[in-house]
Amino acid sequence: MNYRVNPKNNDKLSILGFGCMRFTKDEKELEKQIIYAIENGVNYFDTAYIYPNSEVALGRVLAKGYRDRVKIATKMPPYLIKKYEDFDKIFNVELGRLQTTYIDYYLIHMVTDVNIWNRLVELGVLDWIKEKKENGQIINIGFSYHGGKDEFIKIVDVYEWEFCLIQYNYLDENKQAGKSGLQYAASKGLPVMIMEPLRGGKLVTNLPKEVYKVWENAYVKRSPAEWSFRWIWNHPEVTVVLSGMNSQEMVEENIRVASQAEANTFTEDDFELFTQVRTILDEKIKIPCTGCNYCMPCPHGVDIPTCFSCYNDREIEGKMSAFGKYIMQTSIISKPHNASLCTKCGLCEKHCPQNIAIRDELSNVSKAMEKFYYKPLKFLIKKFMRL
Ligand code: SF4
Ligand code: SF4
Repeated sequence: MNYRVNPKNNDKLSILGFGCMRFTKDEKELEKQIIYAIENGVNYFDTAYIYPNSEVALGRVLAKGYRDRVKIATKMPPYLIKKYEDFDKIFNVELGRLQTTYIDYYLIHMVTDVNIWNRLVELGVLDWIKEKKENGQIINIGFSYHGGKDEFIKIVDVYEWEFCLIQYNYLDENKQAGKSGLQYAASKGLPVMIMEPLRGGKLVTNLPKEVYKVWENAYVKRSPAEWSFRWIWNHPEVTVVLSGMNSQEMVEENIRVASQAEANTFTEDDFELFTQVRTILDEKIKIPCTGCNYCMPCPHGVDIPTCFSCYNDREIEGKMSAFGKYIMQTSIISKPHNASLCTKCGLCEKHCPQNIAIRDELSNVSKAMEKFYYKPLKFLIKKFMRL
């Protein structure tokens, strides 16, 4: 395993962090994966209050003698804080779930606007953090971010943060905080942790044939995931890259790559491959949904990420295949989740880190996917399947 040093406190952190949002539900498998990762050098685990089962599952495994071998990162959801007492209420639940007495890297979750932080300041967050740091319950304080570039700079500058977590991958080099944000945070001495390195898997599975061809014809054989990770680790400003691993194979493969990848090792030929891939993908991906699920649940039953995923697949895999998926995944079920159920209430949009105009995009999805034959076909299939 390769490590990078946190410039703020000299922690030696594995360049591969275990993102806990997509944990497998199989407890035995999960334990095996976590222990294997730790035994092979992974020492950074990232979870959040809003991933309740993941905090509990991580805590259960770490309690078997592994707590002191890793750094735990978890997060406070600012939208659940209404008064000062709520800080402790949430934090104590997290300590309980994680079976620990302290959090190494504590983040304010999804600060997309400096006003989110300012509201917490009004509620007393500065005193709260001071107390938690003095009594050793929080070691480092940071924030996670999904907004635009300008706001990122404001947030970096608004407080003496000790680290931050941003979305970064080769398709988002100039989106959200982007490369300029990464460099700005690093120039301020912040360790920068990276999430969504594979854009929720979209940079790996169901890619257009042309993209696989680019990787296959490369001078060295690497999987799309390996290329994607190596691109990020090539940046010296990056400290830890989180990977939402949920299979043993994935854990082993990512550890192998993380034991080889170094900063500043890419050649002109490597960069050229990414230019080719980006050009192909930019043309195909219509809605930049990462499948994070923050917009869910929709009170009217729309499965927003699935609707978007099927719509994007239309461009990548072809209309028939995507329509088949759409009807199976959103419509031929006892409680349908299709796009036209959207009443345009707007509730979901407040939670989308990608700032997707969800209502407009769902309307595009329903126009494309729910044409005149959708209802009769749905009726016939449901009847056939006795649903
Ligand atoms: S805008 Fe549509 S998709 Fe979003 S929460 Fe409201 S009904 Fe659901
Ligand atoms: S629409 Fe936004 S919040 Fe919902 S899953 Fe996609 S990226 Fe996440």
